[in-house]
Amino acid sequence: MSTRPPRRVLVVGGSTAGSTALRELRRRGFDGRLTLLDPLDGTHRPPLSKAVLADAAHEASVLMDLGSLDVVRVPSAAASLDVDARVVTEVDGGEHGYDALLVATGGRARRLATAGQDGELVLRTVADARLLRERLAAAASVVVVGAGFLGLEVATAARRTAATVTVIDPEPPLVRLLGDHLATVLVGRATDYGITLRRSAVRLHGSPVRGVELDDGSVLEADVVVTCAGDVPETAWLEGSGVAAPQGVPVDASCRSRRDGVWAAGDVAAPVVDGVAVRRPLWANAVTQGRVAAASMLGQEVDAPVLDDYAWTEVAGTSLKVVGRLPCSGTPRVLEESADGGRLLAFGADTVAAVGLRRPVPRLRRALAELKASGA
Ligand SMILES: Cc1cc2nc3c(=O)[nH]c(=O)nc-3n(C[C@H](O)[C@H](O)[C@H](O)COP(=O)(O)OP(=O)(O)OC[C@H]3O[C@@H](n4cnc5c(N)ncnc54)[C@H](O)[C@@H]3O)c2cc1C
Repeated sequence: MSTRPPRRVLVVGGSTAGSTALRELRRRGFDGRLTLLDPLDGTHRPPLSKAVLADAAHEASVLMDLGSLDVVRVPSAAASLDVDARVVTEVDGGEHGYDALLVATGGRARRLATAGQDGELVLRTVADARLLRERLAAAASVVVVGAGFLGLEVATAARRTAATVTVIDPEPPLVRLLGDHLATVLVGRATDYGITLRRSAVRLHGSPVRGVELDDGSVLEADVVVTCAGDVPETAWLEGSGVAAPQGVPVDASCRSRRDGVWAAGDVAAPVVDGVAVRRPLWANAVTQGRVAAASMLGQEVDAPVLDDYAWTEVAGTSLKVVGRLPCSGTPRVLEESADGGRLLAFGADTVAAVGLRRPVPRLRRALAELKASGA
């Protein structure tokens, strides 16, 4: 394993994880050559399913600006990696040598369309958001496949204009993610907002897609059908390099991959915890892993966790911010309540959640630390 500090750092993928790492490398004093390979401008994705779906004016604010970081930007996609020669080759054939490589190529939307089936809508990029916003504006009925955070956020946006919005998932909505209590609260808000939730596996119907087939054999047609069924890591370009596994790029607590000179961060990375590689594709993880990878590449002390414990969403006008362990179990204690029904909840000393209550994340972290210290 090489221990010399790198002089050439190559970052492939310049959205949350990649751009965080670039900033952190300079902040930590790296004065060597920084190269960023990405065919697109970096995108801050969380607003795409919230403000951007509601209003085109918010599109500009999601694009990332690397400002005066002194980065060589190459607007092209990586096609392959040779870990022995330490070279990444672009789709156009250009080659980039490196001393340290950060894989930050994120993920792409998981699709359900079968071969030859056209017109499936997903939401991952600015272009997806633009198309979906246009389609929602003219839709009376909308089906959303998948009742995770993304599906319920899209359903919220759809309900502002569409008379009928149905979210379908084979599992109880949000329970696996949040636990019973918080799932029940958010599902209740969604139902009050006029969103219908149904339990079923689905297959997309028609080409172009114009509905879904449910597991009882019936077909539910809609003007717009959106798949929000998770994402898959963007690892095709790593094929044959030994860096990627089916679940993403396995990394240790320093974001180091299994191959010398290669780190990974963000949605493409699968930190190995207790011997199991698990991808947790959330914004806060992309940020912490970008920082961790930068420190580790420079041989400096890693002073942040490889997995963060902050998650948030906004469903049917109700914001949820959570720090700590998820899913949470049991009945929460109410720490704070606002006049309009917002609540700060504690689940033992494991999790603090602000439901419909605007509280800064550091304050939630302090509340959790106090609970742990008091042994609540
Ligand atoms: C609509 C939406 C809403 C979300 N809302 C939330 C939320 O409310 N809360 C939350 O915690 N998380 C949310 N997330 C998840 C969060 O946005 C992701 O965890 C985060 O974007 C991950 O950042 P990343 O940099 O790892 O990957 P990405 O954002 O996927 O960026 C990967 C980058 O790599 C580039 N790239 C891909 N392939 C190549 C290649 N071969 N060569 C070069 N470059 C390449 C891409 O162009 C892209 O710029 C949301 C995600 C989406 C899609």
